[in-house]
Amino acid sequence: MMCTHRVRAAFNRMVFGLIITVLAGCLATHPVSESVVAKRAQMHMGTLVTLTVVAPNPSVSERAMRAGFNEIKRLEQLLSTWRPDTELSLVNAEAGLRAVKVSQETLELVIRSLDMAQLTRGGFNIALGPAVAAWSATERQHIPDELELQQLKPLVDWTSIQVNKVTQTIFLPRMGMRIDVGGIGKGYAADRAVVEMKRAGARAGVVAISGDIKTFGMPPEGHGFPVGIKHPRKEGELIAILELMDEAISTAGDYERFFVRDGVRYHHILSPQTLQPARACQSVTIIAREGVVADGLDTGIFVLGPEEGMALVESLPDVEAVIIDAEGTMTVSSGLRNRLGMP
Ligand code: ADP
Ligand code: MG
Repeated sequence: MMCTHRVRAAFNRMVFGLIITVLAGCLATHPVSESVVAKRAQMHMGTLVTLTVVAPNPSVSERAMRAGFNEIKRLEQLLSTWRPDTELSLVNAEAGLRAVKVSQETLELVIRSLDMAQLTRGGFNIALGPAVAAWSATERQHIPDELELQQLKPLVDWTSIQVNKVTQTIFLPRMGMRIDVGGIGKGYAADRAVVEMKRAGARAGVVAISGDIKTFGMPPEGHGFPVGIKHPRKEGELIAILELMDEAISTAGDYERFFVRDGVRYHHILSPQTLQPARACQSVTIIAREGVVADGLDTGIFVLGPEEGMALVESLPDVEAVIIDAEGTMTVSSGLRNRLGMP
């Protein structure tokens, strides 16, 4: 019982993000009835990554921990578009010039991203790269002018991306086009890290790449791994808690990376229509089997808005959502209503 509480307390810390001060090293190792539970945090993919491993003994735990972090590092190398030497950077550099051969893995992630675009009627759009660059990640607090954005419109057409499964190539037909997998890459990395942690012998665990969380198996005591959904306007407050069992959760919010200018909030999720920050929601949380689905859909549904977005969620098997609209009103999908607890 004690141990359960300690484990739960550890997860709550993860949810609240209070472990940020401890960037590396083992945070806790508790033996729990023939299981050890270990938790460790490191910085990767520009954010805090926290792995939790439930394993039969400390050496398996250590192996699974390493396997998980190594996989996330590998994917950072493969998918980053900020480093000039990655496959996707090469695809971007050759836009308008030639098709670029990529690994099967990159090809598949781009195909999954295009599926997400189809599903969300273009709300999720990996061709938004030039617009994301124009806003240059809110850090610079730069507001591009309307003319600059309109000129980018022809470059953000995801339907023009040419993926050839036979030659294993990707071609961006217009010069200046740019693929950006920022809206789906963390969910994919969480899925992959779980595969590697299981392969290394972990019985259960959690991969949390910032707000992209994927769980597998069950904690030594209790039914699932508890996670919290953050309040989009009250920092440090949760709006709901739930337990996950072999599920992923991901939130797209306008409160994570933003700045306010003249009373207007500018954030990092863009509407492919206006190329301005999407305005229909404050936050969208998706629960799905796969991280790649949860992460792709949270961004896409944030753009689609609460009505169309919730209708889409209800039409998909094994997908649930908590959507907070622009006014702050929360809607919960039908399959989630009896699973949510108050914090
Ligand atoms: P994060 O977990 O980093 O907050 P999100 O899942 O909320 O990620 O996706 C936001 C990121 O996705 C942005 O930083 C940008 O790189 C990219 N992006 C922004 N708007 C869109 C969009 N409409 N479709 C796809 N990707 C987007
Ligand atoms: Mg996303």
